[in-house]
Amino acid sequence: MQVFGLIGNPVGHSVSPPMHEAAYEACGMDARYVTFEPDPGSIERVVDGADALGITGLNVTIPFKEDVAAAVDTDPLAERIGAVNTVAFVDGPTGYNTDAAGVVRAFGHHGVSLSGRAVVVGAGGAGRAAAFALADEGMDVHIANRTVERAEALAAAVPNASSGGLDGLPAALSDADVLVNATSVGMESDETPVPKRALHAGLAVLDAVYAPLETRLLSDAAAVGATTIDGAWMLLFQGVEAFERWTGRDAPIDAMNGALRDAL
Ligand code: NAP
Repeated sequence: MQVFGLIGNPVGHSVSPPMHEAAYEACGMDARYVTFEPDPGSIERVVDGADALGITGLNVTIPFKEDVAAAVDTDPLAERIGAVNTVAFVDGPTGYNTDAAGVVRAFGHHGVSLSGRAVVVGAGGAGRAAAFALADEGMDVHIANRTVERAEALAAAVPNASSGGLDGLPAALSDADVLVNATSVGMESDETPVPKRALHAGLAVLDAVYAPLETRLLSDAAAVGATTIDGAWMLLFQGVEAFERWTGRDAPIDAMNGALRDAL
């Protein structure tokens, strides 16, 4: 039997176990996906232990993404993002950031062409992944964040990026093609980080927030005729990308999407 898992704290309400176990079932794999809440400060032992036990792959969530990036060899994209959310154990552990692919593949699944100008709101882990991913697709990226210094620091590392505060969003969005909310604003609340007047029909809007699925930002965006993509699509495709890196096979996307949406 193959064993996969998730490390984080808390992980009790994670929807990754049903999403990945649906994939194993659809592919006829003898595999399980289990969750762990390790002690802070134990990450190197956790990674070595997982390797020694023959675990095939681990996902990593808050608060360990940066600790794991420091503890394992990382691929170049995860290195630039500075955070690992997926570890594959093949001749030792290698760290990846599949949140970046989650952003790109969520747009691609909805037929959105990633060219032109993108605005990323947020400069934490999800914002870093989105900014590097969209810049690597060739987009000009503007990063807006509540703490402007964090946006400036990120923009200095991302090719063709600019930065500003949240008050500059209407100007930044006026000629934008793509918007990603990578803040936690809207999570379990009716708030939005983007004023409705800044939205327009030419935008494709991805909200990383997935609880609720229809956030205030997405309902405002739909009301002006923008394309809307909920956070479950990003969650799905980061998991799809992890499955494909661990197994070397195409993920059963429909099975994973069904299980994920049932669990949310
Ligand atoms: P993080 O590293 O803690 O970053 C949080 C971001 O939100 C920062 O940019 C922060 O701004 C901003 N923020 C927090 N409260 C705010 C407020 N009241 N007003 C304006 N900005 C505020 O978190 P993260 O890991 O990037 O996650 C961000 C969100 O993305 C979470 O909701 C998370 O669940 C979601 N997410 C979704 C997926 C997915 O697959 N769908 C994947 C990863 C994350 P400051 O810098 O000013 O503090």
